[in-house]
Parts: sequence; structure tokens; C-alpha cells
Amino acid sequence: MAVNLLGHSDIDARVILNVGGTRFETSKSTLKKLPATRLSKLTEQLSSYDPILNEYFFDRHPGVFSQILNYYRTGKLHYPINVCGPLFEDELSFWGLQREEVEPCCWMTYTKHRSTAETLSILDSLELDTVRSSQQEVIKKFGWDDDFDYIQGNLPRYKKVMMIVWQIFEEPRSSTIAKVITVISIFFILVSILSFVLQTLSMFRITDIDFVTVYINKTATDRTPTLSRQQVHPSFDVVEWICNTWFVFEIMIRFIVTPNKKEFCKSTLNIIDFLATTWFFFTWALIKLHVNDNEALDLLSTIRIMRLFKLFNHHPGLKVIVTSMKYSSSVLWLLIFFVLIAVAVFASLIYYAERMTTRHPDENMFRSIPDALWFNMITMSTIGYGDLYPKTMLGMLIGAVSTVAGVLIIDLPMPIIVESFANFYTHLRARSKLPKTRRKIGPAESKIKKRTAMATLDNGQNLKLLGQTARASIFGNKTLTSHNIKSSVA
Ligand SMILES: [Zn+2]
Repeated sequence: MAVNLLGHSDIDARVILNVGGTRFETSKSTLKKLPATRLSKLTEQLSSYDPILNEYFFDRHPGVFSQILNYYRTGKLHYPINVCGPLFEDELSFWGLQREEVEPCCWMTYTKHRSTAETLSILDSLELDTVRSSQQEVIKKFGWDDDFDYIQGNLPRYKKVMMIVWQIFEEPRSSTIAKVITVISIFFILVSILSFVLQTLSMFRITDIDFVTVYINKTATDRTPTLSRQQVHPSFDVVEWICNTWFVFEIMIRFIVTPNKKEFCKSTLNIIDFLATTWFFFTWALIKLHVNDNEALDLLSTIRIMRLFKLFNHHPGLKVIVTSMKYSSSVLWLLIFFVLIAVAVFASLIYYAERMTTRHPDENMFRSIPDALWFNMITMSTIGYGDLYPKTMLGMLIGAVSTVAGVLIIDLPMPIIVESFANFYTHLRARSKLPKTRRKIGPAESKIKKRTAMATLDNGQNLKLLGQTARASIFGNKTLTSHNIKSSVA
């Protein structure tokens, strides 16, 4: 250990740190408190050391540094509120500190930027504001960017056509043709669904009545209706055929031009579209073969209604709702789980309470626990059909408690989902106001020429140094040159 003239050991010596123009003073022993960090390893041989001013210069954020220096002093790292998270993180990594060292009190505010970054990347992945991808982006999507033909500059015509058609069908707002196609597509979806809904109205149905000839006596006969069947008006068939022809055309074109057939087949919306379309032809074939007497077939054709989900592709807000539901799914599952537990508990309670306290078994409405489960589900969701109700004092009491519990359980997690949606939506709106192109600034070259005492003494040396920095700057940053010249001339 070196001992200086005043008898102090070297470790007690004071250190001056110039961070971004602000000077900080501390003792070496303070800096030694956190080993294996940048500040603990300061030596006069470092390029950041200035022998004339006897200080270390770091071109970093001085505000954040005061917190970091405080960490060395007190052992507690707090997050400066006036800076953004990534900046603080950069500073931490520069000074060789871990972000886990941030105190728990500041952890919430510090991690906020992470959820923001996550939200933004999710919004990015949704591609909500891509109105029209550039040709480069489309080519990249198709994976032709390293294609020999593309590099040569003569992409085959079929590939060009594929790209154009893809853009028309997949980017609804990219061109006038795309807009027209979108309107047609939405129109057919709506017509198909409207026809599906309207054909259940009795005024649009034709009742087929089969007559059987009945002999009244030996000479006279009469016709008696026996079997009646309801049939859909034939004009609905025409509408359905037109719509489904369009759907087949659309899905085929989209499948042919898609850059990734596998992804296309995996997409939920495409599966719905495919199933709904094939289901139509399947049921139509069954009707023609006279085997359609099955109500289950009709139930399955509700898949057509699911086509409405395709509209989600056309509205960013709808996509955001789905995404926020997806990202708060853990809360939703928690809610469902909690409701199920409560329903089960209250159902068994009310069942036994009613059974125990009714005078006559016929008065009891809850014949089984499944009955009680149904009652509790409807009560806790505050719907209350009133098909089942408790009649005894104890049963009513349990019913009342279960209603209050239902309100609390169902309403409590709602703000979380709402917050998630609001979070996505505010970011979406903020981002829509963001300028499209932003300036990129690369990291500054960290190697700053060490200023030696010699350089200021010897003019010739000074010039030589200047030459060196100038040469170095050919490959480096321009701002660095001016900085170096200043430092070597000073
Ligand atoms: Zn704190």
C-alpha cells in the first residue's frame, strides 16, 4: 500500500470524478466498497484519467451518476425518477452494476418501462398500422430477398403477380383494389350471416305437409296431414351459393399467394373460414341426398357465425380487445377458477340447507346438487332467471350471501382487464402520432485518447497527437475528432 507524504494511505485518498461535466468527489475507500465494478478499478493508467486536473472524466449522465455514487456511499441503489428506464439500465451496465441491485421500493417504477416495451412489441407484432408494406418488406416476407433472381433484378413475373395479389388480399387498406376486395368480402360475410339468421324466421320457411289418404268408408277417401317438415325458402339457397362461391374463391387465392402455407393453415381465422365453407357444401350434399333430418347438422352450421371474427382483421380496435384479453388471460383464468369454487361451495350448502329445512320433500326445488349448481351459477352472475329459488329461511340466507359473493368475485378482476385494454389502446393511439422515420444515432466511440502531461508541454508532440487522432477519426466518429483536438490543444 502506497503511503503519501501526509501519512495517509493511498486507499483513503480522495477521488474526483467528472461525469458529463459535473464533478463528484469521494474517497477511494468508498469506491472499493463494490468490487468488480468500473469505479472500484480506477487507476491512473486508465485513459479516462486526467493528470493535469487530477480527475477521471466519464462522458455519462451526471444525474444518474449521483444515484450510483450514492449506492457506493449508502449501499442502497434507488431509481432516479426523472430518467427513463432504458437510460438508467444503460448507465448501470456502463458502471458495471446489476439491475437486481435496485431497491424494492423503486422496483415498481423502474420496471414500468419493461411492460411498456412489451406492450409496444406486442403492438408491433399485430402490424396494426401497416397500411402498405414496401416492396422490400413484401419480398422479405416471401423470403425472396436472398433469391438469385431478385439480386439479379429480374424477378419472374409469377412472383411479382403473387406479391401484388397477396397485398390486395392481406393488406386491406393498401390500395383501391384492396379496399374494394375488402368491402366485397365484408359484404358477403354479412349477407351470409344475415341469411343464416333470417332463414330461421317462420315467415321465410315453407312447411311441407305429407298427406295420407284415409278411407272414410268404402267409396269416400280423405287426405289427412301426417308429417310436416319445415324447409328453408329456396331463395336462401341461391344467396348461400353466391356467398360461398366467393368464400371459396377468396380462400383459394389467399392460399395460393400466401408466403407461408404452414402459417396460413395454422391461423384460427383461416380454419374457421375453411370449416364454414366446407360445411356448407357438405350439408348441401346431404340435403340433396335426402339425409338431412339431423338437427345436429344445423347446430354445427353456427360455425358460419364465427366468420364475423374475420372482421377483426379490418379493425385495429377489435384486435386490441382480443390481445388485451389474451394478455390478461391469467386473471381471467383466476376469475373462472374462483367462480367455480364459490359456485360449488354455495351449491352444496344451499342443497343441504333446503333439504334439511323444508317440511315436505315436494316443496324443495333443489332436487340434486347439479340443480343447485345451476341456481348458483345464475345467481352469482347476477342474472337470476328465477326458475329455481330457495324457499326456506336458511336457503334464502345462503342465496343472499352467494349473490353478494358473486358480485364481488366477478367485479374485482375487471379493472385489471380494463387496465390492460387501456394500456394497449393508449399506446396504440400514442404510436399512431409517432413520426414514421426516426434518426438513428450509433454509440460513441469509447476510446478517448489519453491526454498526457507531455502533450501539453511539447508542442511537437501535441501536433503528433493531433495527427494521430485525425487518422483515427477517419474510421471513427466525426464528433470524436473535434473532441480530441480540443483535448490535445488545451
Ligand atoms: Zn427507492
